[in-house]
Amino acid sequence: MPDKIKEKRDTELKRAGLKITLPRMKILKILEGSESRHLSAEAIFQALGEEGSDIGLATVYRVLAQFEAAGLVTRHFFEGGRSVFELNEGEHHDHVVCVDCGDVDEFVDEIVEQRQDLIAEKTGYKILGHAFTIFGLCTKCRAGSKS
Ligand SMILES: [Zn+2]
Ligand SMILES: [Zn+2]
Repeated sequence: MPDKIKEKRDTELKRAGLKITLPRMKILKILEGSESRHLSAEAIFQALGEEGSDIGLATVYRVLAQFEAAGLVTRHFFEGGRSVFELNEGEHHDHVVCVDCGDVDEFVDEIVEQRQDLIAEKTGYKILGHAFTIFGLCTKCRAGSKS
């Protein structure tokens, strides 16, 4: 891997207060390099296996929990107790999830955001965070042509 990218990952881990270990580096690399921004622990484990790595699933879970605690990733609980992880890039967004194939899309909608502020105001709550997820069937699954 190019030195610059490796250096960036080292910095990210250090900034998160985590020591640099091989499993942490590899898992961070998969999260950064994946086409899908939302990955389950199992998908990360599978990607590691495809690279010929022998990092176990228990380690993947442990590293992800450490990343979450350090604020490096955000964990989302989608349907069926399935949780997925995405790199925390500081930009707030909400999700649309396909209940069939598990595809995840992101959206930001000003009206949805404003509504939530309004609801919090009405109920006297100070918002610390929110999770707004739409569950449905993606266009491919609706067409029945998902391969
Ligand atoms: Zn789908
Ligand atoms: Zn997301």
